[in-house]
Amino acid sequence: MTRRVGLIGKPLKRRHSQVMHDAAFDAAGIDARYVLLELEPDEVEDAVREARGPDWLGLGVTAPYKRVVAGLCDEVEADAETIGAVNNVARTAAGELVGFNTDAPGFQAGVELAMGRPLSGAEVVVAGAGGAAHAVVFACLRAGARNVTVGNRTVAAATGLVERFAAVGTASPSAVALTDSAFGTALRSADLAVNATTVGMLDPGATIPVEVLPATATVFDLVYVPPETPLLQSARARGLRAANGSEMLIAQAAIAFERWTGVAGMADVMRAAVAPLLADAAGRA
Ligand code: NAP
Repeated sequence: MTRRVGLIGKPLKRRHSQVMHDAAFDAAGIDARYVLLELEPDEVEDAVREARGPDWLGLGVTAPYKRVVAGLCDEVEADAETIGAVNNVARTAAGELVGFNTDAPGFQAGVELAMGRPLSGAEVVVAGAGGAAHAVVFACLRAGARNVTVGNRTVAAATGLVERFAAVGTASPSAVALTDSAFGTALRSADLAVNATTVGMLDPGATIPVEVLPATATVFDLVYVPPETPLLQSARARGLRAANGSEMLIAQAAIAFERWTGVAGMADVMRAAVAPLLADAAGRA
């Protein structure tokens, strides 16, 4: 029996996850495939019910179904509950579905590689207050960041985000508008500046004025298509440490794969398999 993991979302434009997981199944000698399930809203409940069957290992979940799938799981792990997003589901041997979040640990692995140091004690500035920013801020606070400033175009969303995480970690995160002078002030002493918006992918330009960052700062852009956003280009031109979201993507996939199969250590296999897609400016190869 070929077992399956299904990615639920709509639209499903990218094949990065499928390529990484299928390569890992092959390398681990596991008879399973990662299938893309581009579903209409009224098809999601049936698809999740089907994933309780023995031929399923679990599910990946992407926009716009992260919330609805969380509500269909038998259990949602505490971190995913706090972050407010389930992006993967594991099927237990008893056929129960457990929702979890891999963006937060994937971000931490990717960003600590980029920084060359732990998040603990870092001064962090995050642009964005959407789903990905929730995982980023949670990871920073939980890892013991000293200070977290969240700047967003819509300041109410940033305020909601920091209020949600008031009890996580010891730092008191603050919320500002991207255009607020307090955003620039926070950047002047930042160890890490993160773009967790869709700017650079969907919209042109950049959210972070790299010229105000200290020379020791790292710039981390969650965007990985295109591989070099204007933000990363200007950070590199200034000689700052800079990385895109590809290592976060690979790390979170390896974490999910281990949860589904029990097989750890697949990041290198996944990195090699997804390299052609990541090298392409449009994410197609
Ligand atoms: P989302 O929930 O739709 O949030 C979008 C965010 O971008 C919001 O904060 C939004 O601000 C902001 N934004 C959009 N257009 C903007 C503009 N023109 N100027 C300023 N801010 C703007 O998206 P998401 O799921 O968080 O994803 C964000 C990015 O992270 C995407 O590029 C995604 O590909 C990437 N991502 C990468 C990984 C990885 O593994 N590397 C994982 C997850 C996500 P408002 O609140 O004002 O609308």
